[in-house]
Amino acid sequence: MEKDLKHAKPESLMMSYGYKPELSEGALKCPIFQTSTFVFKTAEEGKHFFELAYGLKEREPGEEMGLIYTRLNNPDMEILENRLTLWDEAEEAAVFSSGMAAISTVAFEFLKPGDAVLVFEPAYGGTEYLFRHILPQFGVNYIIAHAGSTQAEVEAAVEESGLKKQLAMVFLETPANPTNKLTDLAMTSRIAQKYSSTERRVLVAVDNTFLGPLWQKPLLHGVDLVLYSATKYIGGHSDVIAGVCLGSKELIKRVKAMRTFMGNMATPLTGWLLLRSLETLKLRMTCQMKNARYVADFLENHPKVERVYYLGNLPDDSAQYKIYRQQCTSPGAMISFDVVGGEPSAFRFLNSLKLLKLAVSLGGTESLVEHPASMTHSDLTPEEQLAMGITDKMVRLSIGIENPQDLLDDLEQAFEQA
Ligand SMILES: *Cc1c(COP(=O)(O)O)cnc(C)c1O
Repeated sequence: MEKDLKHAKPESLMMSYGYKPELSEGALKCPIFQTSTFVFKTAEEGKHFFELAYGLKEREPGEEMGLIYTRLNNPDMEILENRLTLWDEAEEAAVFSSGMAAISTVAFEFLKPGDAVLVFEPAYGGTEYLFRHILPQFGVNYIIAHAGSTQAEVEAAVEESGLKKQLAMVFLETPANPTNKLTDLAMTSRIAQKYSSTERRVLVAVDNTFLGPLWQKPLLHGVDLVLYSATKYIGGHSDVIAGVCLGSKELIKRVKAMRTFMGNMATPLTGWLLLRSLETLKLRMTCQMKNARYVADFLENHPKVERVYYLGNLPDDSAQYKIYRQQCTSPGAMISFDVVGGEPSAFRFLNSLKLLKLAVSLGGTESLVEHPASMTHSDLTPEEQLAMGITDKMVRLSIGIENPQDLLDDLEQAFEQA
């Protein structure tokens, strides 16, 4: 049946793709396969499944990997992976117990002692910590680039580092958090090509948590690996922690092998919760995007707001707008802005909000607000923060699915207190 649905859009397939009711007593919805292990029909079958799992034999066309043990595979995890590939147009996906599990597993699989990774900053705090403090203990060097840089600027950073021969990976987020600065994805893949040699292919890995999987599809712009904190938009209800990595068959096979030994796969319950979330992914992200437009317009015209950082208001003639047109199909629902009056006034504003909740994280159905300088980005020195454009007057919003007028009313009453 799914063959006939080859041209259906992902949102049409999220309720059924990859699930066979006849294997689950006819249940319409995929059950939670809360089991640690699976029974083999025969010893021969068990032997064959292990041969496939350890790559001693190749799968026949159309043959599925036999179920062995939940750390390796589980129906909730596999069906989720199949559905996730549709949004990003990826060959394969691997799901993890968290976004950080996905990112660290990719780092440990593809970076070896002596290698260097080119990291665009600002990056998520956990990612920064991994590259700056943990991987150097394993002999992995890092080179810093800045979100929004031109190819010439990035190449200058690589040349100056003296590590260009060791470069193994480029890692970035676009848009960057919390400034919404865009980096040109096609440019990063040109840089990777330039520093690749016959023995060493430089990989580009993109954390697509902020705009993906709906509004930006990095694999279509030449990058190798796409990563997510599925805790955010993919999960979308602020009730589950999970991560995803997508890419070619060849690369994801390696990622899954490392995952087997790290033991950081998603559990059956997490898989099931995310299957449920995916059914409404497009609805939620579309509503969040529309609400964010109202909020951004309101902020743009507010006397207590100095500056708004939002992808929907980039000047037509700017380099950033050109990148936006190349690789994004919507501004998404993340907005940052500077409050007139600095931290005291920003804090009065934050403390006065009622409907918008003061919490880190993002992408959920409820709107959240936070203060990057003292919260998500507080592990950076004030100089580093300033270099990235993060000041104590900045507030970050993640817009949810509430009635937009209620959001504006709450923001307005909080500005009156600021
Ligand atoms: C939240 C987040 C992460 C980490 O994900 P967890 O699911 O919390 O481990 C990584 N990158 C970005 C951009 C994030 O927002």
